[in-house]
Amino acid sequence: MLLNELPDDVLLLILEKCSAQDLSSLAQTCVRITQLTHVDSLWKALCRKEYNVKTLGNIKTYYCLYSELLYSYGWMLGTFLCRTTPRGGLLEVQYCDGMIQGIQWIVSSKSLKDPLDKVLMFEIAESDRHPQCLVPYASLHTAQIRKINSDKFVYKCKEKARHQRQIFCTQKHENIFKGIAYKRLNFPKEIPSSLKLKDGSPSPQIITPWLFIAEYGSH
Ligand SMILES: [Zn+2]
Repeated sequence: MLLNELPDDVLLLILEKCSAQDLSSLAQTCVRITQLTHVDSLWKALCRKEYNVKTLGNIKTYYCLYSELLYSYGWMLGTFLCRTTPRGGLLEVQYCDGMIQGIQWIVSSKSLKDPLDKVLMFEIAESDRHPQCLVPYASLHTAQIRKINSDKFVYKCKEKARHQRQIFCTQKHENIFKGIAYKRLNFPKEIPSSLKLKDGSPSPQIITPWLFIAEYGSH
C-alpha cells in the first residue's frame, strides 16, 4: 500500500512521529501530504518537544512560530554568561508573547542587597526575523547575533549612532559595538525543587528576583 492511500487520520499518526526535517521533506511529495504536514498540532508538538515553547503569543500558527522564529533562533533559549566586563553578566534568553527576548540581569543601582534588575537588551520578532537592539530613548535598530555553536554566540549592535543619547557611556556600553561573547550557563543537574516545574523540568524563570543577593561585610 502506498503512503498516499492511507486515510488522513492514519497519515497524521505517522506524521506525529516525524521530525521537522522529515515533515519538510514529506511536504515536497504531493499536495495532499503537503496539506497534512501543515496541520498545526504537529508543529505545536514540535515547538514543545524541541524548544519547550508552549504558547503561541501573537503569532498566527505554531508552524510560523517554528519555521520563522524557533528554527533560526530557538537554540538561543536559556541562560548565558558573559565575561566581557570586569564583573561578567547574566543574560536570559526567553520566548515571550511571540518574541525571543534577551534580558540582561544587572546589579541594582540602589543597593547590592536588592534583587538583580532586569533590562531588556534585544528582541527578535517572527515578523522581521532580525535581532533588534533595545536602548532607552532610541527607536528599534538592527543588532547582530553570530552563532559560534549552540552554547556560544556573539552579540553586537550595528548602529552606534542610535546610542548617542545614552547618558551613561560606560565601558560595557562600548562593548556592545565591539561584540559581547556569551557562553551558556549550565545549571547543575540537581536543581532545588522550588525552581522546578510540576513535570520536574527547570523553570524557564530560573533567575528570579532574590535568587542572587549580594552580601557586603563591613570593613
Ligand atoms: Zn544598539
